[in-house]
Amino acid sequence: MELKEKVAVVTGGGMGIGQAIATALAKEQAHVAIWDINLESAKETAAEIENLGQETLVCEADVSKAPAVDSATDQTLERFGHIDILINNAGITHPAVSILDLELEFLDKVSDVDLKGVYICSRRIGKEMVGRKSGVIVNISSITALVPVPLAVYAPIKSAVIMLTRILARDWAQKGVRVNAIAPGYILTPLLQGMFDKGLRNPDTILSHIPMKKFIMPSDIADAAIFLCSEKARFITGVTLPVDAGFSCEGGWKAYGYE
Ligand code: NAD
Repeated sequence: MELKEKVAVVTGGGMGIGQAIATALAKEQAHVAIWDINLESAKETAAEIENLGQETLVCEADVSKAPAVDSATDQTLERFGHIDILINNAGITHPAVSILDLELEFLDKVSDVDLKGVYICSRRIGKEMVGRKSGVIVNISSITALVPVPLAVYAPIKSAVIMLTRILARDWAQKGVRVNAIAPGYILTPLLQGMFDKGLRNPDTILSHIPMKKFIMPSDIADAAIFLCSEKARFITGVTLPVDAGFSCEGGWKAYGYE
């Protein structure tokens, strides 16, 4: 229970990967503030955290808006006094189509949440952490930042998150603040399951490109996040940890006739 009594902020903690990370932190006996635009789902995660015996706080905050992030930070500091852990998880995506068919509006929409959001939250909470000379930030990037896929806005923005992670890690290396990223592969979230159910995606096609032939669960990303937040990772900063069941190792294996 290395994270006992630590105070964590999880952006987009109402659902999916963020919810799994928030509850995993609570299982490690951290107190967890959930910042989300969806108040209802954030409250559901908060109820789970309370059931685990930990304190929680829900802030309705759009991470792409600096005044909203300022307000959520003030509320969190007022409630807990300080912040030890920031999980920059809130993110949105867009249809997987050619750039020629992708509406231009996604350029602003996705970069606002997935990059600007990480920047604004890291800048605001990072200031508190640097002031206390203590803190850990984990940014949720994506394996699409490392392997080209038909996501012409989302993937380059997730690559930018990796570079921002390295820049902040270097900037704050002597200031007691570690900054790392996780690059999740295909995660079996309710969203992906819904796509399978509606016939929009084929699980067998996806699995044929995953060397371990298994889907990763949100709790697997939470396990990696807990490790990066822990003292066991005390000399790890500026890295991006793929949790992708081997997806980024696939390379040209099939071209040699191997399955
Ligand atoms: P999700 O859609 O299930 O949940 C996202 C959460 O973020 C929701 O609670 C939503 O309300 C919240 N949110 C959205 N916009 C927000 C904003 N502007 N401010 C605050 N909260 C906001 O998503 P997920 O699949 O759990 O993905 C979480 C993160 O993991 C994202 O950054 C995503 O890009 C990344 N990721 C997901 C997968 C995957 O397979 N699901 C793979 C790689 C990376």
